[in-house]
Amino acid sequence: MTETWTGWRPFTIAEKRPESSIITSFILRPADGLPIQRHRPGQHLTFLFPVTGKGEIQRNYTISCDANGEYYRISVKREPQGTVSRWLHDEAGPGTTIKVMPPSGSFVLPDDQKRPVVFLSGGVGQTPMVAMAEAIADRHPDLKAEYVHCAINGAVHAFRQHIAEIARHQKDFRTTVFYSKPEPGDVFNHEGHLTMEWLRENTPLEEADYFVCGPLPFLRAFVPGLLKAGVPHDRVHYEFFGPVEDLFEDENIPAPASVAPPPAAKEYRRSDSAEIADADIGLALIGSASDAVVASDRDGTIILWNPGAERIFGFTEKEALGQSLDIIIPEQFRGRHWEGYNQTVASGQSRYGAGDLLAVPGLKKDGSRNSIEFTIVLLKDKDGKVEAMASVIRDVTKNFQAMKALKAELAQAKEKSV
Ligand SMILES: Cc1cc2nc3c(=O)[nH]c(=O)nc-3n(C[C@H](O)[C@H](O)[C@H](O)COP(=O)(O)OP(=O)(O)OC[C@H]3O[C@@H](n4cnc5c(N)ncnc54)[C@H](O)[C@@H]3O)c2cc1C
Repeated sequence: MTETWTGWRPFTIAEKRPESSIITSFILRPADGLPIQRHRPGQHLTFLFPVTGKGEIQRNYTISCDANGEYYRISVKREPQGTVSRWLHDEAGPGTTIKVMPPSGSFVLPDDQKRPVVFLSGGVGQTPMVAMAEAIADRHPDLKAEYVHCAINGAVHAFRQHIAEIARHQKDFRTTVFYSKPEPGDVFNHEGHLTMEWLRENTPLEEADYFVCGPLPFLRAFVPGLLKAGVPHDRVHYEFFGPVEDLFEDENIPAPASVAPPPAAKEYRRSDSAEIADADIGLALIGSASDAVVASDRDGTIILWNPGAERIFGFTEKEALGQSLDIIIPEQFRGRHWEGYNQTVASGQSRYGAGDLLAVPGLKKDGSRNSIEFTIVLLKDKDGKVEAMASVIRDVTKNFQAMKALKAELAQAKEKSV
Protein backbone atom coordinates (compact mmCIF):
# COMPACT_ATOMS: atom_id res chain seq x y z
CA MET A 1 0.00 0.00 0.00
CA THR A 2 1.29 3.47 -0.77
CA GLU A 3 0.60 6.38 1.48
CA THR A 4 -0.19 9.79 0.10
CA TRP A 5 -0.65 12.75 2.39
CA THR A 6 -1.52 16.42 2.48
CA GLY A 7 0.28 19.17 4.36
CA TRP A 8 3.59 18.79 6.20
CA ARG A 9 4.59 15.27 7.31
CA PRO A 10 7.55 14.68 9.66
CA PHE A 11 10.41 12.65 8.21
CA THR A 12 13.62 11.61 9.91
CA ILE A 13 17.08 11.55 8.38
CA ALA A 14 17.98 7.86 8.56
CA GLU A 15 21.36 8.02 6.87
CA LYS A 16 23.83 10.57 5.53
CA ARG A 17 26.10 9.43 2.73
CA PRO A 18 28.82 11.45 0.91
CA GLU A 19 28.56 11.15 -2.88
CA SER A 20 31.46 13.49 -3.73
CA SER A 21 33.54 16.16 -2.01
CA ILE A 22 30.60 18.61 -2.21
CA ILE A 23 27.45 16.46 -2.59
CA THR A 24 25.90 14.42 0.22
CA SER A 25 22.84 12.17 0.08
CA PHE A 26 20.26 11.96 2.85
CA ILE A 27 17.93 8.98 3.25
CA LEU A 28 14.60 10.19 4.60
CA ARG A 29 12.08 7.90 6.29
CA PRO A 30 8.62 8.96 7.49
CA ALA A 31 8.58 9.44 11.28
CA ASP A 32 5.18 7.64 11.47
CA GLY A 33 6.69 4.49 9.91
CA LEU A 34 3.88 4.24 7.35
CA PRO A 35 4.50 3.73 3.63
CA ILE A 36 5.24 6.74 1.46
CA GLN A 37 3.80 7.95 -1.81
CA ARG A 38 5.39 6.54 -4.98
CA HIS A 39 6.91 9.51 -6.73
CA ARG A 40 7.54 9.85 -10.45
CA PRO A 41 11.26 9.82 -11.35
CA GLY A 42 12.42 13.44 -11.55
CA GLN A 43 9.98 14.86 -9.00
CA HIS A 44 11.05 16.90 -6.00
CA LEU A 45 9.99 17.44 -2.39
CA THR A 46 9.35 20.68 -0.57
CA PHE A 47 10.79 20.86 2.93
CA LEU A 48 10.75 22.91 6.09
CA PHE A 49 14.19 22.64 7.71
CA PRO A 50 14.71 23.69 11.35
CA VAL A 51 17.90 25.65 10.69
CA THR A 52 19.75 26.56 13.87
CA GLY A 53 19.15 30.20 14.80
CA LYS A 54 17.03 30.88 11.71
CA GLY A 55 13.74 29.06 12.35
CA GLU A 56 12.02 26.91 9.73
CA ILE A 57 13.27 27.51 6.19
CA GLN A 58 11.57 26.18 3.07
CA ARG A 59 13.56 24.64 0.20
CA ASN A 60 13.01 22.13 -2.61
CA TYR A 61 15.19 19.10 -3.28
CA THR A 62 14.81 16.54 -6.04
CA ILE A 63 14.31 12.92 -5.03
CA SER A 64 17.50 11.36 -6.36
CA CYS A 65 16.26 7.75 -6.31
CA ASP A 66 13.47 5.82 -7.97
CA ALA A 67 10.26 5.12 -6.02
CA ASN A 68 10.55 2.29 -3.46
CA GLY A 69 7.62 2.85 -1.06
CA GLU A 70 9.89 3.14 2.00
CA TYR A 71 12.22 6.11 1.81
CA TYR A 72 13.23 9.09 -0.28
CA ARG A 73 16.80 10.10 -1.01
CA ILE A 74 17.88 13.67 -1.65
CA SER A 75 21.38 14.67 -2.71
CA VAL A 76 22.47 18.14 -1.76
CA LYS A 77 25.38 20.26 -2.93
CA ARG A 78 27.01 22.27 -0.16
CA GLU A 79 26.82 25.91 -1.27
CA PRO A 80 29.70 27.83 0.36
CA GLN A 81 27.33 30.51 1.73
CA GLY A 82 24.11 28.51 1.56
CA THR A 83 21.82 28.59 4.58
CA VAL A 84 20.11 25.22 4.29
CA SER A 85 22.70 23.24 2.32
CA ARG A 86 25.42 24.11 4.88
CA TRP A 87 23.10 23.21 7.76
CA LEU A 88 22.31 19.87 6.11
CA HIS A 89 25.98 19.10 5.49
CA ASP A 90 27.41 20.43 8.74
CA GLU A 91 24.71 19.99 11.40
CA ALA A 92 21.84 17.72 10.35
CA GLY A 93 22.33 13.98 10.61
CA PRO A 94 20.69 10.68 11.51
CA GLY A 95 17.76 11.37 13.85
CA THR A 96 17.14 14.96 12.66
CA THR A 97 13.44 15.50 11.93
CA ILE A 98 12.27 17.68 9.05
CA LYS A 99 8.84 18.45 7.56
CA VAL A 100 8.01 17.32 4.05
CA MET A 101 5.23 17.98 1.52
CA PRO A 102 4.23 15.22 -0.92
CA PRO A 103 6.28 14.80 -4.14
CA SER A 104 5.49 17.23 -6.92
CA GLY A 105 6.87 18.43 -10.24
CA SER A 106 6.37 17.74 -13.92
CA PHE A 107 10.01 17.22 -14.92
CA VAL A 108 9.55 13.45 -15.04
CA LEU A 109 10.32 10.42 -17.16
CA PRO A 110 6.92 9.20 -18.39
CA ASP A 111 5.97 5.61 -17.47
CA ASP A 112 5.29 4.86 -21.13
CA GLN A 113 8.45 6.49 -22.52
CA LYS A 114 9.20 4.97 -25.95
CA ARG A 115 11.37 7.56 -27.69
CA PRO A 116 15.11 7.50 -26.89
CA VAL A 117 16.11 9.80 -24.04
CA VAL A 118 19.13 12.06 -23.73
CA PHE A 119 20.00 13.30 -20.24
CA LEU A 120 22.13 16.44 -20.06
CA SER A 121 23.22 17.44 -16.59
CA GLY A 122 25.69 19.83 -15.06
CA GLY A 123 26.89 19.51 -11.46
CA VAL A 124 24.19 18.77 -8.92
CA GLY A 125 21.62 19.08 -11.76
CA GLN A 126 22.25 15.36 -12.09
CA THR A 127 19.88 14.43 -9.24
CA PRO A 128 16.66 14.02 -11.30
CA MET A 129 18.61 12.09 -13.96
CA VAL A 130 19.84 9.60 -11.35
CA ALA A 131 16.23 8.86 -10.36
CA MET A 132 15.27 8.52 -14.04
CA ALA A 133 18.26 6.24 -14.73
CA GLU A 134 17.21 3.99 -11.82
CA ALA A 135 13.66 3.88 -13.25
CA ILE A 136 15.06 2.89 -16.66
CA ALA A 137 17.08 0.10 -15.02
CA ASP A 138 13.93 -1.08 -13.22
CA ARG A 139 11.21 -0.84 -15.86
CA HIS A 140 12.54 0.12 -19.30
CA PRO A 141 14.99 -2.62 -20.30
CA ASP A 142 14.89 -1.70 -24.00
CA LEU A 143 14.89 2.09 -23.80
CA LYS A 144 17.77 3.78 -25.60
CA ALA A 145 19.43 6.31 -23.28
CA GLU A 146 22.37 8.73 -23.50
CA TYR A 147 23.55 9.95 -20.12
CA VAL A 148 25.75 13.02 -20.58
CA HIS A 149 27.11 14.55 -17.40
CA CYS A 150 29.35 17.58 -16.97
CA ALA A 151 31.38 18.27 -13.84
CA ILE A 152 34.51 20.17 -12.91
CA ASN A 153 36.55 17.07 -12.10
CA GLY A 154 36.42 13.64 -10.51
CA ALA A 155 36.47 14.95 -6.91
CA VAL A 156 33.10 16.69 -7.25
CA HIS A 157 31.51 14.13 -9.58
CA ALA A 158 28.73 12.28 -7.69
CA PHE A 159 27.10 8.92 -8.58
CA ARG A 160 29.82 8.00 -11.04
CA GLN A 161 30.00 4.30 -10.11
CA HIS A 162 26.24 4.03 -9.68
CA ILE A 163 25.47 5.30 -13.20
CA ALA A 164 28.30 3.23 -14.70
CA GLU A 165 26.78 0.17 -13.03
CA ILE A 166 23.33 0.90 -14.49
CA ALA A 167 24.87 1.41 -17.95
CA ARG A 168 26.69 -1.92 -17.67
CA HIS A 169 23.46 -3.83 -17.08
CA GLN A 170 21.27 -2.02 -19.63
CA LYS A 171 21.01 -3.01 -23.25
CA ASP A 172 21.32 0.48 -24.70
CA PHE A 173 22.48 3.00 -22.10
CA ARG A 174 25.56 5.07 -22.96
CA THR A 175 27.34 7.45 -20.60
CA THR A 176 29.60 10.37 -21.50
CA VAL A 177 31.50 12.43 -18.96
CA PHE A 178 32.86 15.93 -19.57
CA TYR A 179 35.29 17.45 -17.05
CA SER A 180 36.06 21.16 -17.41
CA LYS A 181 39.18 21.04 -15.18
CA PRO A 182 40.25 17.43 -14.77
CA GLU A 183 42.82 16.47 -12.15
CA PRO A 184 45.60 13.95 -12.71
CA GLY A 185 44.17 10.45 -12.38
CA ASP A 186 40.59 11.45 -13.33
CA VAL A 187 38.82 9.12 -15.73
CA PHE A 188 36.52 10.89 -18.18
CA ASN A 189 35.57 11.04 -21.87
CA HIS A 190 36.12 14.68 -22.82
CA GLU A 191 38.02 17.61 -21.39
CA GLY A 192 36.25 20.98 -21.61
CA HIS A 193 32.61 21.89 -22.01
CA LEU A 194 29.76 20.10 -23.69
CA THR A 195 28.75 21.89 -26.91
CA MET A 196 25.78 21.90 -29.25
CA GLU A 197 28.12 20.70 -31.95
CA TRP A 198 28.89 17.59 -29.90
CA LEU A 199 25.18 17.00 -29.30
CA ARG A 200 24.44 17.35 -33.02
CA GLU A 201 27.06 14.77 -33.86
CA ASN A 202 26.47 12.31 -31.05
CA THR A 203 22.80 12.34 -30.06
CA PRO A 204 19.62 11.60 -32.05
CA LEU A 205 18.19 15.12 -32.34
CA GLU A 206 15.46 13.93 -34.72
CA GLU A 207 13.91 11.41 -32.36
CA ALA A 208 14.99 11.79 -28.73
CA ASP A 209 13.43 13.46 -25.72
CA TYR A 210 16.00 15.73 -24.05
CA PHE A 211 16.06 16.20 -20.27
CA VAL A 212 18.24 19.13 -19.22
CA CYS A 213 19.17 20.24 -15.70
CA GLY A 214 22.13 22.29 -14.54
CA PRO A 215 23.34 25.77 -13.67
CA LEU A 216 22.05 28.82 -15.49
CA PRO A 217 24.72 29.04 -18.25
CA PHE A 218 24.14 25.33 -18.94
CA LEU A 219 20.40 25.83 -19.44
CA ARG A 220 20.97 29.00 -21.45
CA ALA A 221 23.28 27.09 -23.78
CA PHE A 222 21.26 23.93 -24.33
CA VAL A 223 17.55 24.75 -24.02
CA PRO A 224 17.54 27.42 -26.77
CA GLY A 225 20.33 25.50 -28.55
CA LEU A 226 18.25 22.34 -28.89
CA LEU A 227 15.21 24.32 -30.00
CA LYS A 228 17.27 26.13 -32.62
CA ALA A 229 18.70 22.80 -33.79
CA GLY A 230 15.13 21.77 -34.61
CA VAL A 231 14.16 19.68 -31.57
CA PRO A 232 10.46 20.42 -31.08
CA HIS A 233 9.47 22.24 -27.91
CA ASP A 234 7.59 19.26 -26.50
CA ARG A 235 10.77 17.12 -26.62
CA VAL A 236 12.95 19.56 -24.64
CA HIS A 237 12.27 19.13 -20.92
CA TYR A 238 14.20 21.13 -18.37
CA GLU A 239 14.42 21.83 -14.67
CA PHE A 240 16.10 24.74 -12.95
CA PHE A 241 17.08 24.70 -9.28
CA GLY A 242 17.10 28.47 -8.78
CA PRO A 243 14.50 31.22 -8.82
CA VAL A 244 12.51 31.42 -12.05
CA GLU A 245 13.29 35.10 -12.48
CA ASP A 246 17.00 34.21 -12.82
CA LEU A 247 16.20 31.76 -15.57
CA PHE A 248 14.41 34.29 -17.69
CA GLU A 249 16.54 37.28 -16.80
CA ASP A 250 17.80 37.38 -20.38
CA GLU A 251 14.37 37.27 -21.89
CA ASN A 252 13.46 40.44 -23.72
CA ILE A 253 10.80 41.78 -21.51
CA PRO A 254 9.36 44.44 -23.78
CA ALA A 255 9.45 47.97 -22.41
CA PRO A 256 6.10 48.96 -21.04
CA ALA A 257 3.89 50.05 -23.92
CA SER A 258 3.10 53.75 -23.94
CA VAL A 259 1.39 54.06 -20.64
CA ALA A 260 -2.34 53.77 -21.14
CA PRO A 261 -4.57 55.90 -18.95
CA PRO A 262 -5.50 53.88 -15.88
CA PRO A 263 -9.03 52.51 -15.84
CA ALA A 264 -11.42 54.56 -13.82
CA ALA A 265 -10.97 53.66 -10.18
CA LYS A 266 -14.12 52.60 -8.42
CA GLU A 267 -14.13 55.40 -5.90
CA TYR A 268 -15.27 54.13 -2.56
CA ARG A 269 -17.46 56.43 -0.44
CA ARG A 270 -18.83 55.53 2.92
CA SER A 271 -22.56 55.80 3.17
CA ASP A 272 -22.67 57.31 6.64
CA SER A 273 -20.52 59.42 8.90
CA ALA A 274 -19.46 56.62 11.25
CA GLU A 275 -15.74 56.12 11.93
CA ILE A 276 -13.67 54.62 9.14
CA ALA A 277 -13.75 50.84 9.63
CA ASP A 278 -11.28 48.20 8.39
CA ALA A 279 -13.79 47.18 5.74
CA ASP A 280 -13.86 50.73 4.36
CA ILE A 281 -10.10 50.76 3.99
CA GLY A 282 -10.16 47.32 2.34
CA LEU A 283 -12.83 48.34 -0.14
CA ALA A 284 -11.06 51.61 -0.98
CA LEU A 285 -7.82 49.73 -1.68
CA ILE A 286 -9.60 47.16 -3.83
CA GLY A 287 -11.34 49.91 -5.76
CA SER A 288 -8.11 51.74 -6.61
CA ALA A 289 -6.02 51.48 -9.76
CA SER A 290 -2.66 51.52 -7.96
CA ASP A 291 -1.68 47.95 -7.02
CA ALA A 292 -3.47 44.97 -8.50
CA VAL A 293 -5.64 43.00 -6.09
CA VAL A 294 -6.58 39.61 -7.50
CA ALA A 295 -8.36 36.80 -5.66
CA SER A 296 -8.87 33.25 -6.86
CA ASP A 297 -10.71 30.24 -5.46
CA ARG A 298 -9.13 26.91 -4.47
CA ASP A 299 -8.99 25.86 -8.13
CA GLY A 300 -7.30 29.06 -9.27
CA THR A 301 -10.36 30.64 -10.89
CA ILE A 302 -10.34 34.43 -10.66
CA ILE A 303 -13.08 35.72 -8.35
CA LEU A 304 -11.88 39.29 -7.79
CA TRP A 305 -10.14 41.63 -10.24
CA ASN A 306 -9.67 45.29 -9.37
CA PRO A 307 -8.89 48.35 -11.52
CA GLY A 308 -5.18 47.99 -10.57
CA ALA A 309 -5.21 44.51 -12.13
CA GLU A 310 -6.79 45.92 -15.27
CA ARG A 311 -4.11 48.62 -15.47
CA ILE A 312 -1.24 46.14 -14.97
CA PHE A 313 -2.46 43.24 -17.11
CA GLY A 314 -4.87 44.88 -19.57
CA PHE A 315 -7.84 42.54 -19.02
CA THR A 316 -11.08 44.18 -17.90
CA GLU A 317 -12.90 42.84 -14.86
CA LYS A 318 -15.49 41.26 -17.18
CA GLU A 319 -12.80 39.50 -19.20
CA ALA A 320 -10.90 38.22 -16.16
CA LEU A 321 -13.62 37.02 -13.78
CA GLY A 322 -14.23 33.30 -14.11
CA GLN A 323 -10.97 32.73 -16.01
CA SER A 324 -8.03 30.67 -14.74
CA LEU A 325 -5.01 32.55 -13.36
CA ASP A 326 -3.25 31.11 -16.43
CA ILE A 327 -4.28 34.28 -18.32
CA ILE A 328 -1.54 36.23 -16.46
CA ILE A 329 1.10 33.46 -16.23
CA PRO A 330 3.53 32.92 -19.13
CA GLU A 331 3.15 29.37 -20.39
CA GLN A 332 6.54 28.02 -19.25
CA PHE A 333 5.88 29.06 -15.65
CA ARG A 334 2.45 27.49 -15.35
CA GLY A 335 3.63 24.05 -14.19
CA ARG A 336 5.72 25.48 -11.37
CA HIS A 337 2.98 27.99 -10.47
CA TRP A 338 0.27 25.36 -10.06
CA GLU A 339 2.55 23.14 -8.00
CA GLY A 340 3.11 25.97 -5.54
CA TYR A 341 -0.54 26.96 -5.65
CA ASN A 342 -1.84 23.46 -4.92
CA GLN A 343 0.71 23.01 -2.14
CA THR A 344 -0.37 26.26 -0.55
CA VAL A 345 -4.05 25.26 -0.75
CA ALA A 346 -3.24 21.85 0.77
CA SER A 347 -0.89 23.06 3.50
CA GLY A 348 -2.64 26.30 4.40
CA GLN A 349 0.77 27.98 4.49
CA SER A 350 2.50 30.37 2.15
CA ARG A 351 6.00 31.76 2.54
CA TYR A 352 4.85 34.79 0.56
CA GLY A 353 2.34 35.83 3.19
CA ALA A 354 4.83 37.14 5.75
CA GLY A 355 6.75 39.77 3.86
CA ASP A 356 8.66 37.57 1.39
CA LEU A 357 7.96 38.83 -2.11
CA LEU A 358 7.55 36.45 -5.00
CA ALA A 359 9.07 37.98 -8.15
CA VAL A 360 8.07 36.46 -11.49
CA PRO A 361 7.36 37.43 -15.08
CA GLY A 362 3.69 38.15 -15.76
CA LEU A 363 1.67 37.97 -18.97
CA LYS A 364 -0.38 40.86 -20.32
CA LYS A 365 -3.47 40.79 -22.53
CA ASP A 366 -1.45 41.93 -25.55
CA GLY A 367 0.87 38.92 -25.10
CA SER A 368 3.83 40.94 -23.82
CA ARG A 369 5.59 40.25 -20.52
CA ASN A 370 5.99 42.39 -17.45
CA SER A 371 7.85 41.79 -14.19
CA ILE A 372 5.68 41.55 -11.13
CA GLU A 373 6.17 41.12 -7.41
CA PHE A 374 3.43 39.95 -5.12
CA THR A 375 2.41 38.75 -1.70
CA ILE A 376 -0.39 36.32 -0.85
CA VAL A 377 -3.13 36.32 1.75
CA LEU A 378 -4.95 33.06 2.41
CA LEU A 379 -8.69 33.17 3.02
CA LYS A 380 -9.67 30.24 5.25
CA ASP A 381 -12.97 28.83 6.48
CA LYS A 382 -13.70 28.35 10.19
CA ASP A 383 -11.90 24.97 10.15
CA GLY A 384 -8.76 26.52 8.71
CA LYS A 385 -9.27 25.09 5.20
CA VAL A 386 -8.07 27.41 2.41
CA GLU A 387 -11.07 28.67 0.43
CA ALA A 388 -9.40 31.32 -1.68
CA MET A 389 -6.22 33.34 -2.10
CA ALA A 390 -5.85 37.07 -2.56
CA SER A 391 -2.70 38.64 -3.98
CA VAL A 392 -1.48 42.19 -3.98
CA ILE A 393 0.57 42.56 -7.15
CA ARG A 394 2.91 45.38 -8.19
CA ASP A 395 4.39 45.95 -11.64
CA VAL A 396 8.19 46.27 -11.19
CA THR A 397 9.19 46.08 -14.86
CA LYS A 398 11.13 49.36 -14.73
CA ASN A 399 13.13 48.37 -11.62
CA PHE A 400 13.82 44.94 -13.08
CA GLN A 401 15.21 46.44 -16.27
CA ALA A 402 17.30 49.00 -14.36
CA MET A 403 18.72 46.16 -12.20
CA LYS A 404 19.53 44.14 -15.31
CA ALA A 405 21.38 47.08 -16.85
CA LEU A 406 23.32 47.63 -13.60
CA LYS A 407 24.29 43.95 -13.41
CA ALA A 408 25.54 44.07 -17.02
CA GLU A 409 27.60 47.21 -16.26
CA LEU A 410 29.03 45.59 -13.14
CA ALA A 411 29.98 42.44 -15.07
CA GLN A 412 31.70 44.58 -17.75
CA ALA A 413 33.57 46.59 -15.11
CA LYS A 414 34.72 43.36 -13.42
CA GLU A 415 35.90 41.94 -16.74
CA LYS A 416 37.92 45.09 -17.46
CA SER A 417 39.55 45.06 -14.03
CA VAL A 418 40.84 41.47 -14.42
C1 LIG B 1 12.74 22.04 -8.05
C2 LIG B 1 14.08 22.19 -7.34
C3 LIG B 1 14.86 21.08 -7.09
C4 LIG B 1 16.10 21.22 -6.47
N1 LIG B 1 16.87 20.10 -6.27
C5 LIG B 1 18.09 20.23 -5.72
C6 LIG B 1 18.93 19.08 -5.54
O1 LIG B 1 18.57 17.96 -5.90
N2 LIG B 1 20.15 19.25 -4.95
C7 LIG B 1 20.60 20.51 -4.57
O2 LIG B 1 21.71 20.61 -4.03
N3 LIG B 1 19.81 21.62 -4.75
C8 LIG B 1 18.59 21.51 -5.29
N4 LIG B 1 17.79 22.61 -5.43
C9 LIG B 1 18.30 23.92 -4.92
C10 LIG B 1 17.94 24.05 -3.43
O3 LIG B 1 16.54 24.19 -3.30
C11 LIG B 1 18.56 25.29 -2.78
O4 LIG B 1 18.25 26.42 -3.55
C12 LIG B 1 20.08 25.18 -2.65
O5 LIG B 1 20.43 24.05 -1.85
C13 LIG B 1 20.65 26.45 -1.98
O6 LIG B 1 19.98 26.66 -0.77
P1 LIG B 1 20.73 27.26 0.49
O7 LIG B 1 19.72 27.57 1.53
O8 LIG B 1 21.87 26.39 0.88
O9 LIG B 1 21.33 28.58 -0.12
P2 LIG B 1 20.77 30.12 0.00
O10 LIG B 1 21.03 30.54 1.40
O11 LIG B 1 19.39 30.11 -0.48
O12 LIG B 1 21.74 30.77 -0.97
C14 LIG B 1 21.55 30.60 -2.41
C15 LIG B 1 22.83 30.95 -3.13
O13 LIG B 1 23.28 32.21 -2.81
C16 LIG B 1 24.60 32.12 -2.33
N5 LIG B 1 24.71 33.01 -1.19
C17 LIG B 1 24.01 32.95 -0.05
N6 LIG B 1 24.40 33.92 0.78
C18 LIG B 1 25.37 34.61 0.13
C19 LIG B 1 26.17 35.73 0.46
N7 LIG B 1 26.07 36.37 1.62
N8 LIG B 1 27.08 36.17 -0.46
C20 LIG B 1 27.21 35.55 -1.65
N9 LIG B 1 26.47 34.48 -2.02
C21 LIG B 1 25.57 34.02 -1.14
C22 LIG B 1 24.83 30.71 -1.88
O14 LIG B 1 26.19 30.30 -2.04
C23 LIG B 1 23.95 29.99 -2.80
O15 LIG B 1 24.64 29.71 -3.99
C24 LIG B 1 16.55 22.49 -6.05
C25 LIG B 1 15.74 23.62 -6.28
C26 LIG B 1 14.54 23.47 -6.92
C27 LIG B 1 13.70 24.70 -7.15
